[in-house]
Amino acid sequence: MKKKLVAGNWKMNGSLASNEALLKEVRDALPLSCEGAVFCSAVYLPQVQGFLAGSAWSYGVQDVSCYAQGAYTGDLAVSMVREFGATMTLVGHSERRTYHGESSELVAKKAVAALEGGLTPVVCIGESLHEREQALTFDTIAAQLDPVIEKASPFLANQCWPLIFAYEPVWAIGTGRTATPEQAQEVHAFIRNRFATCLGVAVAAGVKILYGGSVKAENAKALFAQADVDGALVGGAALQAKEFIGILNATLG
Ligand code: PEP
Repeated sequence: MKKKLVAGNWKMNGSLASNEALLKEVRDALPLSCEGAVFCSAVYLPQVQGFLAGSAWSYGVQDVSCYAQGAYTGDLAVSMVREFGATMTLVGHSERRTYHGESSELVAKKAVAALEGGLTPVVCIGESLHEREQALTFDTIAAQLDPVIEKASPFLANQCWPLIFAYEPVWAIGTGRTATPEQAQEVHAFIRNRFATCLGVAVAAGVKILYGGSVKAENAKALFAQADVDGALVGGAALQAKEFIGILNATLG
């Protein structure tokens, strides 16, 4: 049985004091039914490492460079992140695609850089409201997914797909408007079928596909009950210990 993964994306939030309070509350709240991860701002990695290293939690950052090192002012190399015990990174979050103009090709390169450097990338994909209203959801998802499948396929080992996807409809991120469980399931099934076509049914079955977009304790259970929803990427609600723990506990069924 694949364990569900619940991951918190702190975005550009937090302080030493608020992180400490949050980490102290959530650290021991991870149920056995669930894997947990935290994506903090890079500057807080040593603090997060101090609280979570040696626990069942994973942690990482919200973006990495596609380059190993060099003259890339302001960027963060995978090897730097690894030095602080991180094992994961987000790539391609819609806020980076929108505010930093990141293309799906660049996102795929970042995913490969993460894999080469020993981090598990969580690749975020999702359609805008306009694309959904124009019936372009599946075209958009395919265009974001395919470069990653193509570039990451050489890393496939023992039928095991090396990275995680997060389906995050842009219209649901930070808006309080969650996709219905049926809408989420429809797109997750599309993603899994695309994997099955490219890489085979066995690989597709093992791929973790998270849902993200206004997940809260009250809607998590219905989302987790969907056949192809393997967990959640949580923004706002991951900053409130009670709400985040409620989402972790929703994996208990
Ligand atoms: C996110 O930032 O990945 C996210 C899903 O945010 P929120 O849960 O606040 O919608």
